[in-house]
Amino acid sequence: MAFDYDLFVIGGGSGGVRAARTAAATGAKVGLAEEFRMGGTCVIRGCVPKKLMVYASGYSEMFKDARAYGWDVTDGPFDWSKFRSHLHRELDRLESVYRKLLDGSDVAIFDCRATLKDPHTIALGDGRDVTAKHILIATGGRPVLPDIQGAELGITSNEIFNLEDMPKSILIIGGGYIASEFAGILNGLGVAVTQFYRGAQILRGFDEEARGLVAEGMRAKGVDLHLGTNIVDIRAAKDADFSDSMGTPMEQGKPATVASGGGGRGIWVKATNGIEQVFDQVMFATGRAPNTEGMGLEAAGVALGRSGEIIVDTFSQTKVPSIYAIGDVTNRVQLTPVAIREAMAFVETVFKGNPTPVDHDLIPSAIFTQPEFGTVGLSEEDARAMEPVDIYCTSFKPMNHAFSGRSDRVLMKLVVSKATRKVLGCHIVADHAGEMIQLAGIAVKMGATKEDFDRTVAVHPTMAEELVTMKDPVRSA
Ligand code: NDP
Repeated sequence: MAFDYDLFVIGGGSGGVRAARTAAATGAKVGLAEEFRMGGTCVIRGCVPKKLMVYASGYSEMFKDARAYGWDVTDGPFDWSKFRSHLHRELDRLESVYRKLLDGSDVAIFDCRATLKDPHTIALGDGRDVTAKHILIATGGRPVLPDIQGAELGITSNEIFNLEDMPKSILIIGGGYIASEFAGILNGLGVAVTQFYRGAQILRGFDEEARGLVAEGMRAKGVDLHLGTNIVDIRAAKDADFSDSMGTPMEQGKPATVASGGGGRGIWVKATNGIEQVFDQVMFATGRAPNTEGMGLEAAGVALGRSGEIIVDTFSQTKVPSIYAIGDVTNRVQLTPVAIREAMAFVETVFKGNPTPVDHDLIPSAIFTQPEFGTVGLSEEDARAMEPVDIYCTSFKPMNHAFSGRSDRVLMKLVVSKATRKVLGCHIVADHAGEMIQLAGIAVKMGATKEDFDRTVAVHPTMAEELVTMKDPVRSA
């Protein structure tokens, strides 16, 4: 049977675009449909705008640092609308780069929604049907609101980049990557940030010492972080009955804040610990769900998991042999570089005749909290549940901040196997931890031992030199 395309990709995010381009480079005829903007979550409403906001927010502390270093600078207000228009110009530019890359690779672009009709037929939003030998689903995910009445009064990370005004106060619900990153960003931009996390410590699953230091650092910078706390009631402030509530603000001496504009826009929240407060905005960062609804997947025979994710094998193939899926829609590891890896492995497998499983082991990642956190491999807790380990760890005030008088502390930690001396995990809390962990990740992925780290001469004076100069374990477990 002759198909219209060798490959049809649904979703123009990082994974889908990479798969389309690299498949087209093998000579395959490729089509790609995207219903929103080319670039997906990472470029349009995720990693890229988030990182630019991290940069923007960092300046508030730098003015103070600069004065300590002898510069005559004064703090000025942050102009959100000026930043936002620059940000959106940059996102437009990046989107056009993605389009040009696809055009230049001879990928046919369809700016519309696409759903499945059967294992080889795609229904396009413009009414046409097209057929393809292989179909790749790369539709990503979306933030989800918790199932509580009034949740729709809050925003998610999707809306944060498009706000008309910066709120004066915000409540962020959640303790994962997104909640913790935005708590730092908005705090740095001058917003009064309160964060509720239902568990005992933010960033569940990561090394305990590292996440403890991140949480402490966030608090020291001004984030009002409440652990073991969740939201029980949320209403528009104008509809809430304040008769028994206004006397219990979250912090003593910090009155409940009502949005400028006279209370109409404020959101009243009641927490599990009984405290009530009004915030300008409430942001839910309570997890993300795969975009599989209404796609015709189940009718085509594709199996979905409990969270709606597409179930795939190690080659990203679904139960239907002609249909593959990569990226967040498969809910394996929700990270852009992982989706890109999965895209490349898919093309290698299907278009280059070289079956390539995706390697999800030892993925380095950075959480752009303030302080920043870079991590690869096992946490101390996970490692010691598996085998005896030696822990090498140091915490200190970095030279840069000691000079300027900041209280920031750095953590450098290696989790080492007693039996093999291999470094099983590396955890860094420091400025530029993301940059450092990328490089440490190479050594860890290569199976470097603690002695390999030690044989490497230190780069002085840096923070990262501590990774190769820690002599004795602080403990064994
Ligand atoms: P996460 O799954 O990381 O965090 C969700 C948070 O919300 C958790 O703290 C969770 O608590 C909490 N939560 C879930 N449901 C509720 C509820 N009903 N009420 C209160 N709290 C709730 O999701 P994110 O949205 O932060 O991020 C999604 C993914 O995106 C991440 O896993 C990551 O892979 C990726 N990402 C990566 C970034 C990076 O690389 N720097 C940046 C941003 C996102 P609990 O822990 O108790 O379950």
